[in-house]
Amino acid sequence: METTERLPSSDFVLYERDDRVAVITLNRPDVANAQNMELLDQLDAAWTRAASDDEVRVIILQANGKHFSSGHDLKGTSIARDGEKLTLARVYEAEARRYLGYSLSWRNVPKPSIAAVQGVCIAGGLLLCWPCDLIIAADNARFSDPVVHMGIGGVEYHGHTWEWGPRKAKEMLFTGRSMTALEAERLGMVNRVVPLQDLRTETMALAREIAEMHPFALRQAKRAVNQTLDVQGFYAAIQAVFDIHQTGHGHALSEAGYPVLMRLEGMKQQLKADRPTPD
Ligand code: ZN
Repeated sequence: METTERLPSSDFVLYERDDRVAVITLNRPDVANAQNMELLDQLDAAWTRAASDDEVRVIILQANGKHFSSGHDLKGTSIARDGEKLTLARVYEAEARRYLGYSLSWRNVPKPSIAAVQGVCIAGGLLLCWPCDLIIAADNARFSDPVVHMGIGGVEYHGHTWEWGPRKAKEMLFTGRSMTALEAERLGMVNRVVPLQDLRTETMALAREIAEMHPFALRQAKRAVNQTLDVQGFYAAIQAVFDIHQTGHGHALSEAGYPVLMRLEGMKQQLKADRPTPD
């Protein structure tokens, strides 16, 4: 690496620059890169740095450890400040900013980005890789959104229908099961599947290849594709489904006084099958 820098007070995310490629690394491997609010804020700071550095042409998002991300850290979540009542307004505000807002803003960074995914990518993990323009999956990668088990109709950023098509999106949501890397490649959700040991080198090789292209042309190519999706309704649908998601939190709050229903046995079984063993 030509330049290795640590973001100010960043414990959970590393930022490096290798020539014209910014490499952002999730660095909470002891909990399979579960996302607490601090990690998300640090991740957003890393994206902002990469976006604003004129030397950076391509952005890689990768993860240290066995797994890309096990999703939102349900234990470490700090939506409710100490002693404060957990209301739907509080949940909505926190999730609109950090789950929906961050993912949309990463999607719209006017530079190509590539996610490198290994191991599990569960629920909130999808909110980190889906905003990237390209996804390279290791052969052991698995993607899932099991939050229907928690009484909610899917994670906050509804990429499902766009990424998987309506039928597969429904199947994945209805069952909560995980999708293999090969299945994801077949559906066009990932660009390619590579052996785990080659994940980083293959991702960097692709990033370097893209970095040779004219940056303004890359920016316009990305805009062409994203704008086409937006004209088809991507942006409006993402906003609308975020509000549908919030009705799930509202329902759980009214039923259980907590924004998710954690009592279902199926979730435990799913997590047993999908949850990572810590490093
Ligand atoms: Zn939520």
